[in-house]
Amino acid sequence: MTLPSIPTYAAVIYLIAAVCFILALKGLSSPKHARAGNLLGAAGMLAAIITTFTLHGISNLWLIAVGMVVGVAIGVPAARLVKMTAMPQMVAAFNGVGGAAAAVVAITEFSREASHPIAIYRIVEVLFSVLVGSVSFSGSVLAFAKLQEWMTGRPITYPAQQPINAMVGAVLLALIGASIATSSTLVVVLLLIISLIFGVLFVLPIGGADVPVLISLLNSFTGLAVAATGFVLQNTVLIVGGTLVGASGALLTQMMSQAMGRSLPNILFSAFGSVVTAGQGVEAGDRSVRAGTPDDIAVLLAYSHKVAIVPGYGLAVAHAQHTARELADALIARGVEVVYAIHPVAGRMPGHMNVLLAEANVPYEQLKEMDEVNPEMPTTDVALVVGANDVVNPAAKNSPGSPIYGMPIINVDQAHNIVFLKRSMRPGFAGIDNELLYDPKTIMLFGDAKDTLTKLVDAVNKL
Ligand code: NDP
Repeated sequence: MTLPSIPTYAAVIYLIAAVCFILALKGLSSPKHARAGNLLGAAGMLAAIITTFTLHGISNLWLIAVGMVVGVAIGVPAARLVKMTAMPQMVAAFNGVGGAAAAVVAITEFSREASHPIAIYRIVEVLFSVLVGSVSFSGSVLAFAKLQEWMTGRPITYPAQQPINAMVGAVLLALIGASIATSSTLVVVLLLIISLIFGVLFVLPIGGADVPVLISLLNSFTGLAVAATGFVLQNTVLIVGGTLVGASGALLTQMMSQAMGRSLPNILFSAFGSVVTAGQGVEAGDRSVRAGTPDDIAVLLAYSHKVAIVPGYGLAVAHAQHTARELADALIARGVEVVYAIHPVAGRMPGHMNVLLAEANVPYEQLKEMDEVNPEMPTTDVALVVGANDVVNPAAKNSPGSPIYGMPIINVDQAHNIVFLKRSMRPGFAGIDNELLYDPKTIMLFGDAKDTLTKLVDAVNKL
């Protein structure tokens, strides 16, 4: 059975929508054009949806409309209310339902066609969509639960994990063979169920800091599943949209792995973070640290030539981006040169710091990427580390056994003075101690980053 071909006007609008998606991705690659890119992508999607409604052969319109209303009623407030720090969970949730939709649509189409002889290539399209879409769905649900702290964020391992995974993999292969041989919807439904289980098993051993990378990979899977469903439905806009998501997700996954200094197989299969040995770090109790007061640190900052603010996850948690900018403005007004040193994986999602600082209207020219700012560190008077830890931890350079060994860092250890704004001596997301907190040139200012930054702004303004 083949689907009716679409009229020329619809094909043209689909083409325009596809061009909008490509230009949207281009726009999203720079903070200046991201908003326009987003709108363009949404406009392309709207045009594609309206066009699809005008095509012949669409039944159950009211059911689709109800689905859309429910989707909008959940999606719009969720997107508006989500905290910046919860963005990875949000992506996991949206991504998961995308994968599930691709799998369910493919299986429905298959059951419609199953009464006729089906070409093998059509069965393969359906199976790909069902398998990858289901893995993406259940994997995303588990990733969401880990990030939302509904379950432990640590990698979960158990005896005979590998043999069990291999067994489930073998069952999947057998079901794929049986589906091709029998064209039975029941077998494809079984494939869907076992794929869901496989998605859970795949994600269980992936821990904490690696989960955002995993989400990017699952995002790529969903894109591919949607593209396969596009082939099933012979819908070009789904094929193009899905392929773009698949390709951009794969590239993002690769870039995130590179920025963490790890290979993708290492992230997926090494159960990173399951064991955090004390040997990697130091005991906080028997080491002395130098704690400062806002007044002391304000003097140090105000009489510096150059200050580098290094933001991290804690800045996002404390919503301290506006206060960081106030401090920078106060220092600049006194003639201090201020830059923001941005690490590619600071925070919990790619571009996290850029987004926050753009929200606080920090001028782009003050933002410096890691490679640009590192050569300037030896001539920087103060590195002000605001809620960052792993991305400045020299263990990444000096401790071959450390889980973050090999990750490029912002070299704040080369600055003349280091000030850490954090609440305690607790480690960052990778769970390893940071020698730099005990360095003689380090001053700690303990407290919530927004409070301590506010105190620093007041103290600088009083000078
Ligand atoms: P870290 O998680 O290493 O450290 C954040 C620090 O912020 C903590 O030590 C914490 O210390 C402090 N903090 C938390 N809340 C507050 C607050 N309210 N006020 C002040 N300080 C606070 O963050 P980094 O940004 O340095 O590193 C990011 C980590 O996430 C890396 O391990 C990276 O690999 C990982 N990651 C990032 C991804 C991305 O795309 N950005 C993707 C995948 C992983 P305390 O509790 O003492 O306050």
